[in-house]
Amino acid sequence: MKKVFIRTFGCQMNEYDSERILTLLKDQYVSCPELNEADLIIVNTCSVREKAEQKVYSLVGRLKHLKRRRPEVIIAVVGCVAQQEGERILKRLPHVDLVLGPQAVYRFPEHLAKVLAGERPIVDVTMVKNFRQPLIFPELDGTRPVKAFVTIMQGCDNFCSYCVVPYTRGREISRPPEEILAEVEHLVRCGVREVTLLGQNVNSYGRKEKGFPTFAELLREVASIPGLWRVRFTTSHPKDLTEELMRCLAEEPKVCKHLHLPVQSGSDRILKRMNRRYTRAEYLNKVAKLRTLCPEIALTTDVIVGFPGETEEDFKATLSLLEEVRYAEIFSFKYSDRPLARSRLFKEKIPEEIKAQRLAKVHELQARITREINESFIGKEVEVLVEGRSPGNPLLWTGRTTTNHVVNFEGPEGLKGLLVCVLIEDTGQHSLRGRFKEIVNP
Ligand code: SAM
Ligand code: SF4
Repeated sequence: MKKVFIRTFGCQMNEYDSERILTLLKDQYVSCPELNEADLIIVNTCSVREKAEQKVYSLVGRLKHLKRRRPEVIIAVVGCVAQQEGERILKRLPHVDLVLGPQAVYRFPEHLAKVLAGERPIVDVTMVKNFRQPLIFPELDGTRPVKAFVTIMQGCDNFCSYCVVPYTRGREISRPPEEILAEVEHLVRCGVREVTLLGQNVNSYGRKEKGFPTFAELLREVASIPGLWRVRFTTSHPKDLTEELMRCLAEEPKVCKHLHLPVQSGSDRILKRMNRRYTRAEYLNKVAKLRTLCPEIALTTDVIVGFPGETEEDFKATLSLLEEVRYAEIFSFKYSDRPLARSRLFKEKIPEEIKAQRLAKVHELQARITREINESFIGKEVEVLVEGRSPGNPLLWTGRTTTNHVVNFEGPEGLKGLLVCVLIEDTGQHSLRGRFKEIVNP
């Protein structure tokens, strides 16, 4: 068998696509962790921020030397940067053999066959409106992962003014519920205990399709699959967060008590320019209602600093929102112009050093809030789904609570894939540390 090396940048959806590509190639290639030993190198790319795109060019640029030494090695650039740049990638990186957009990755084997037959380069960035993602069951027998991703929809219709996703991944389309359920059932048969349902805006699942369930209904159906212990989902757009979904989060025991609800900014003026279609007050009202219905819920968010025109006052509104909501964790980014995204044309760009200062202030504030929340766990017992040994310390087990907090702990052999009770004794910056008490499988 030949060897394939795959490097995945960006979101969970890219990880999901990479897993499908490997499954499509499984009769010809085995996965190998060493880039220099590979016969086929695939770089699955992200273009959501400028920095992510630069990383792709830097990695693929370095492959030029390898291609010179071993011209038979096939190099493929796939995903969002491939979609965005198309043929232009070959101008900068002429050693690339295959350029495939997010829809075209599902045609990987046929394009690869052409390259192997001497036809190169191949560029396929076709994007059709009603793209139906093929049903591909990944082979998981060897690795027996405890958790897995399941894409429930493709694309996005929201056109937030800073965002490239609607252009690289196309218009929103939901997968039929029976395919999603079949895929989750397959994963459970392979030993998976927790699935995360993926979409750019899962809250609008099925709205464009006739006869599809709502997202909350789908969630309940997935949760009813025997042998599945936990369901998560991401991402939720605040404007589409319904009371029905809040109740599902509160009532359905298998649905994890964690919601990632990207706010982006605490200033109404900036939210409007971002085309987010909610106000600060509307966002905060939804958070308050959710916390009334489901007091144990943990919230996380995404924040962008330095959006064009963001004043000191706008930025302070973001800081005060972070104080008010007290997220368990946040992902914060410096704004960057993206090709095609409308805000690249906005005047009043914020200088890099101001963006960096604002980002540092956000980090500092959130580090304190996260520390305080983590410390409130000390002395408490939590349920943890054990994912395996901790990558940072193989003497410890690692897993997550229903609220998505990482817990590292000492315990006996054989805990992988089990639900256990852990007494929290200490905290780190991004994790909790504890001691094994007992197995609490459902
Ligand atoms: N669909 C999800 C949502 O609405 O939150 C995820 C979108 S994107 C893949 C993930 C995050 O990247 C966004 O929530 C946003 O904070 C950030 N992001 C997107 N475009 C950006 C840009 N041009 N500059 C900086 N951050 C950006
Ligand atoms: Fe981008 Fe907005 Fe769609 Fe999220 S909801 S993918 S931020 S356009």
